[in-house]
Amino acid sequence: MNGRKLPYPLLEIDLDKLRHNLAALNERCQSLSVEVAGVVKGFTALPEVVRAYTDCGIRCIASSRTAQLRAIRDANVDCERFLIRIPMLSELSEVAALADMSLQSELETLRALNASCAQREKRHKVILMLDLGDLREGFWSREELVDAALEVEYKLDHLELAGVGTNLGCYGSVAATPEKLRELVSAAEAVERAIGRELQYISGGASSSVHMLLNGTLPARVNHLRIGEFALFGGIYGCYPDFLRRDVFTLRLEVVECRAKPSYPVGELTVDAFGKTREYTDRGVRRRALCAAGRVDYGDPFDLTPRLAGVEVLGASSDHTILDVEDAAVPVRLGDVLDFGVSYGSLVYLTNTPEVRVACRGGGQKITE
Ligand SMILES: *Cc1c(COP(=O)(O)O)cnc(C)c1O
Repeated sequence: MNGRKLPYPLLEIDLDKLRHNLAALNERCQSLSVEVAGVVKGFTALPEVVRAYTDCGIRCIASSRTAQLRAIRDANVDCERFLIRIPMLSELSEVAALADMSLQSELETLRALNASCAQREKRHKVILMLDLGDLREGFWSREELVDAALEVEYKLDHLELAGVGTNLGCYGSVAATPEKLRELVSAAEAVERAIGRELQYISGGASSSVHMLLNGTLPARVNHLRIGEFALFGGIYGCYPDFLRRDVFTLRLEVVECRAKPSYPVGELTVDAFGKTREYTDRGVRRRALCAAGRVDYGDPFDLTPRLAGVEVLGASSDHTILDVEDAAVPVRLGDVLDFGVSYGSLVYLTNTPEVRVACRGGGQKITE
């Protein structure tokens, strides 16, 4: 890299709005004795943004990647670090060094992690995952879960069995419902009977469980949620409560070409740059703008929502975003900077590339990078 970052593409993160969301959710959780783990993988755990979580009293910071936990440690963020992707056998020394707690679903991994923790003279908390049908991570049978819990409790001295958890609404699109979480509580109670004590945590899922917190249907014994998207985007599909901000993130792109062109391609049609057959609608000659950022920066162009009324995303190549600006509320010109809302999916890309400048605003100061 040549040092100077270009002004655009720019991702702006409004930390005041994020703090508002975090505080509002944390308060509702606290009133029901539910502890929040702040999931920060969505923005690649940028330390300045992670501090917004600890500012709001969220003490446990969760990521799917040990590299992100390392970045948080190296930035001296004062928090508990929680690994929420089932770890590789090959990364257990990092897990022991960087994480205070992790999600687990394999007995062999638990035994090896115990050995890694013994070497480092560390104690590490584990939450055992139960798969309730979404078919991503977790023990499938209750017996296996209880057996693993017994082994952790009585044999694996460097591990502390902190609780039982589940994940829903990911691979299998299975809805998080009170019934599913009652199954989780019942399995957790089977573990408690086996080990003869109460578990610290029954971890009832991710953002897809937050609606139950808000409408009072979260089963009483569920006392832990791992929340990412809901705080960052003010809700998730089907549930955007009006007390949360939905505009924490703004992507700003510069227009590099703007002119009237036909809306239907001219010539013999084959496939696009990605080998896909596409459909085009002939709407006659319309004004179009080209912005200097593309799929390499954000993934899917249809995850961008233009903030200027009348602007429509038509598509993108690796490095260009193509917009219809014929009906834009304000005329669009070469050199203009257009604002977009982004999705959770695109945020991961935007915060992972050195070519997108990230700037935080809020907390009294203007802009920091
Ligand atoms: C990503 C993740 C979460 C957070 O998911 P959101 O939908 O962003 O709230 C929680 N738990 C696990 C295991 C995850 O991988």
